[in-house]
Amino acid sequence: MPFTRLGLSPALVHAAREHGFLAPTPIQTAAIPLVLQGRDVRAQAQTGSGKTAAFALPLLQRVQQAARAGEKPRRLRALVLVPTRELAAQVGATLRDICEHIAEPLKIVVAVGGVSINPQMLRLRGGADIVVATPGRLLDLVDHNALKLADVATLVLDEADRLLDLGFADELDRILALLPATRQNLCFSATFPPAVQKLTDALLHDPARIDIEPEAARAAQIAQRAIEVDPTRRTALLRQLILENGWRQVLVFVASKNAADNLADKLYRAGIDAAPFHGELSQGRREQVLADFKAARWQVVVATDVAARGIDIAQLPVVVNYDLPRSPTDYVHRIGRTGRAGEAGVAISFVSAATEAHFRLIEKRQQQRVPRERIAGFEPLDTAPASVSDPDGTGGIKGKRKSKKDKLREAAGKT
Ligand code: AMP
Repeated sequence: MPFTRLGLSPALVHAAREHGFLAPTPIQTAAIPLVLQGRDVRAQAQTGSGKTAAFALPLLQRVQQAARAGEKPRRLRALVLVPTRELAAQVGATLRDICEHIAEPLKIVVAVGGVSINPQMLRLRGGADIVVATPGRLLDLVDHNALKLADVATLVLDEADRLLDLGFADELDRILALLPATRQNLCFSATFPPAVQKLTDALLHDPARIDIEPEAARAAQIAQRAIEVDPTRRTALLRQLILENGWRQVLVFVASKNAADNLADKLYRAGIDAAPFHGELSQGRREQVLADFKAARWQVVVATDVAARGIDIAQLPVVVNYDLPRSPTDYVHRIGRTGRAGEAGVAISFVSAATEAHFRLIEKRQQQRVPRERIAGFEPLDTAPASVSDPDGTGGIKGKRKSKKDKLREAAGKT
C-alpha cells in the first residue's frame, strides 16, 4: 500500500519520499490512518520497524491542519515524550528532516536535560508547534514559564512502557496534570510488559490497538547466540571475538556505569578503540560518543541500558550482552539495536553458571531457546546450576558450591 492511500497529504507523502521513505512499513500502514482520525492508539511493533515515522508523519499533518484552520501558530499542539536524551535528539531530527520538505515548516524544539536550559528557553520564545522532550527537562521549562502545556492536542509517549514505569512516575503524573483533559494519546513501544498494562489502560481513551508482530518473531530475525563463559574470562573472550571476527562496530551492554568505564578502559588498553557510554557522562560527551560510533570512529561502545531504547544505528552488526539485562523486556530492547530496518544482526549473550537461570527466564519470555556455545580456550570451569544437573548436590546454593580452585584441584587429580 503506498503512502498516498493512508490519508496523508500529497505534501507529506512528498516529504516522506524526500526523506527516503518510499513505501510505508507495516506499523506505519496500521497507525497513520488512526492517528489522522484523532484516535488514541496503543501500538506495539518490533524494534527498528519505523515507529517514529508512524507517529511523526500524521502528527505533522494534524499540526499543519490546525495551523491552517486559523489557530494561532506556535501554540504547542503536540508533545512527544521520550525516556532518553539521545532518543529525543533522534526523534526531533526525524521531525525536522521531514519538515524541511514541506512548504509551511513547523517549529520543532527538542528539550533535554544535561545541557544548559537557556538556549532551550530562547528557542521556545515565541512558542513552538511540537516539542520533543525528556520528562524532567520539560517540567523545568514549565517551571521557568518557558512553555505551557494547555494547548497540547496530542501527547505521544515513545518507548511508552519505559515512561510509564516507576522511574518516571512522579514526573509523568505532574506532566499529565498540566495537559488538557481532552486530548489524543499515542503510546508506542516494542514492549508492553504486564506491569504497565493498567497504566496504559488508564491513560488511553478507547484506544485502537495495533500489534504488528509479536516481539518473539522479531527476536527470531536477529541471530541470537549465547556463549558460556566464566565471569572473569569475559573481557578476554570479548577481545578475541572482536579480533577474530573483524567486527568494526560492536555495542556492548554492561550492568553499571563503573563496569562501562572499566571494560572500555581495558579494551582500549588492549588496542581496541572502545569508549564508555552512560548517564554520568556529560551530555556533550554522550552526543560525541554516539556520533563517532555511528560514523564508525569508535569500534566498540560499552554502554548501560541508557543506550538500549530507541537509538537507531544503521547497520549495527553486533550487540553483546557482557552482563545480562535485568529483565526480558530490556533484553528485547538491547538486542533490537541491531538488525534494524530489515538488516541482519547478531546478538551475543555471555552466560555463566550464576546467570544461567536468569537467561532461561529471558528465553522463556521470548519463546525461543538459544543454544549454548563454548569457545575453545574459554570453557567455563564453574558448574551448571542445580536445575540442569546438580553434581555438587548443593541444590545450587551459593557458597555451597565447589570453588573454582576446588574444581581445578579435582580436575588435576583426575588426569
Ligand atoms: P524507527 O523504528 O522509527 O527507529 O526506524 C527504524 C529505521 O527504519 C530508521 O533508520 C528509519 O529511518 C527507517 N525507516 C522508517 N520508516 C521507513 C520507511 N517507510 N521506509 C524506509 N525506511 C524506513
